[in-house]
Amino acid sequence: MNKLRIGWIGLGHMGVPMTANLLKAGFSVTVYNRTRAKAEGLGMEIAASPAALARSADIVVTMLSDDPSQEQVLFGKDGVAEGLKAGQIVVNMGTISPEASRSAAERLGKLGVQVLDAPVSGSVKPATDGTLVILVGGEPDALVRCQPIFDVLGKRTFHFGKAGQGANAKLAINMMLGTMLQAAAETVVFGEAAGLDRGQLLDMIAETPCASPIFNLKSPTIRAGSYPPAFPLKHMAKDFRLMLDAADGADISVAAAVSANFQKAEAAGLGDQDVMAVIKVLER
Ligand code: NAP
Repeated sequence: MNKLRIGWIGLGHMGVPMTANLLKAGFSVTVYNRTRAKAEGLGMEIAASPAALARSADIVVTMLSDDPSQEQVLFGKDGVAEGLKAGQIVVNMGTISPEASRSAAERLGKLGVQVLDAPVSGSVKPATDGTLVILVGGEPDALVRCQPIFDVLGKRTFHFGKAGQGANAKLAINMMLGTMLQAAAETVVFGEAAGLDRGQLLDMIAETPCASPIFNLKSPTIRAGSYPPAFPLKHMAKDFRLMLDAADGADISVAAAVSANFQKAEAAGLGDQDVMAVIKVLER
């Protein structure tokens, strides 16, 4: 049994496989999820509230949707902050804004608690395989203490600097991911409009230098025209909004155009489908 006691909040698509790997690796893991039913039957102790979870953990990890959920869980009623004491570490692994990451570090820092932003690149499959890429911002000594956790969850950890820089790195890689998915979608829609066969088109792309790992992962869903959620589209739409907010004078005009399409897809009710469902807006 690993001696570090982990308190984990957020059992969505990512939280479930990530906690399963920590349990398998011998960590003691207590969990909290807003919808308690999702925490049941996973073989881990369930805390009554985020505050109660924080009282019994050395390291609190959050894997939540966005800034408002992070704010609620950390600083709301019965939130993590109410249960923390000096010397503990809070690690946020969800994709939230660099600003919210810096703010949490500052506010919890006043309690003597260190905060890392450690969002991840990789979806449900790498989360299940323990091969995520972990993008860290925050103090180096806190990272040293959390590294055994990251070593179970991921294949590589990058330390990008102070609080908020992990969040910035995550937005950077998702900018590339989102634009690549949009490019794949437009390629297929263009080809089909010209009378090309979708399956043959996908087979052709797979034989060219354009066949990236992400294309190979999503190609079967484009072929089937079915997009069960691995990375819910609503989260990519949120990530594009965060990118546009965080862009400090950088020219990201292609990302801005891609963002508009993801916002349209979310508004069209595709938010809970996989991110690749963005193609449906173009098909319409
Ligand atoms: P998800 O399946 O939508 O799960 C979201 C989690 O946040 C659930 O546990 C949900 O609780 C909780 N939550 C949402 N609002 C809350 C609130 N107001 N108070 C308390 N809890 C709240 O999301 P996911 O796919 O696991 O992704 C989690 C984060 O990782 C997101 O920031 C996402 O952008 C990022 N990410 C996702 C992927 C991916 O492929 N899925 C990959 C990399 C990064 P309930 O169960 O009660 O709804």
